[in-house]
Amino acid sequence: MSKFKLLLKKFRSRWHGVSTCPKETLVASLSVTYLARCGHKTKLREEIGPKDDRREITLLLTENRPDFCLSCLESAIIRCAWCGQTIWPDNPITLYETSQKDFQPKDGSRLYSEKDGYKTYVGCLRWNCADTLADRAGFWRMPGFVERQMSPIEQCLNTGEMVVVEDIKE
Ligand SMILES: [Zn+2]
Ligand SMILES: [Zn+2]
Repeated sequence: MSKFKLLLKKFRSRWHGVSTCPKETLVASLSVTYLARCGHKTKLREEIGPKDDRREITLLLTENRPDFCLSCLESAIIRCAWCGQTIWPDNPITLYETSQKDFQPKDGSRLYSEKDGYKTYVGCLRWNCADTLADRAGFWRMPGFVERQMSPIEQCLNTGEMVVVEDIKE
């Protein structure tokens, strides 16, 4: 074997080792089925979601297991009561009360609370749906509940900071 061929062989084997190892490891971890903490078996990456909003989701592992399977995640997707678009787990949400008693929410939406016939629904924070980003009232969380957080406006009211006072001197 010539010196050149030997070198080429050495180079190739090294190149082969370096380039294929990480790739195979990655592919292997994606084809493995995991038992998620929700009790279901799941792949780590798949395209899920309704027809109008498909997304490729990769689950994160905490201590070698995902918290939820992809189908539990998919079934936790709801619709904004006002615009009908999707709300995925961990999306920020609004909680608006309806001004009319006969308000018809979009299919697949969630009622948050009801008082004297007026209902509060979970809504999305899209720019054309929420009145303002300051209306963020919390987050939609797995497996399907509202994690309430004070909106920026509520925080102002609560702390007493940044209170607008009318100038009555003149
Ligand atoms: Zn599950
Ligand atoms: Zn909306």
